[in-house]
Amino acid sequence: MAPHQIRLIGDPVLRRPATEVTDVDGALVRLTDDMFTTMYEAPGIGLAAPQVGVQKRFFVYDHGEGAGVILNPRIIESDGEWTFEEGCLSVPDLTWEITRPKQIHLVGVDLDGNEVSIEADEIEARLFQHEIDHLDGVLLVDHLDDDQSREARRVLRQMTMSRLASTPAGGQLDGGLRLR
Ligand code: ZN
Repeated sequence: MAPHQIRLIGDPVLRRPATEVTDVDGALVRLTDDMFTTMYEAPGIGLAAPQVGVQKRFFVYDHGEGAGVILNPRIIESDGEWTFEEGCLSVPDLTWEITRPKQIHLVGVDLDGNEVSIEADEIEARLFQHEIDHLDGVLLVDHLDDDQSREARRVLRQMTMSRLASTPAGGQLDGGLRLR
């Protein structure tokens, strides 16, 4: 079983902006190890700390041609436009065509305290923008156009109702869905 349960849309922790990492200790390193395991089991190519309930600015990623942990990531430049079918482990089984900048320049720090500077394109750029959104309390549903948004509300409402129906206590999702 994955070490962490991935938080799902409706969980308020996904909507709170995370705070900067000021100190890398053993606990943080172990947490990132656990996050990799959770991400691989999902499976996914990126996982941000708020998705496991931790309100700190970092994420782990592995898109097949690169993997790592980025602390306090920032986008200092972005360019172009690219539409891509995007999904999120916190909004399971749903994807939408979303347009975002195609290229970005990401800076941050790794677990050894070294500065990271990555010129990312397409999937990698998409992934970094998506994970940084999580650190700001933003979910992919916030990027939908009006038609996509209406459809998303309908589908998510049905998903919540069936989840509540199958959870006798019904406590887990009592925050309900808050889209926008
Ligand atoms: Zn996500």
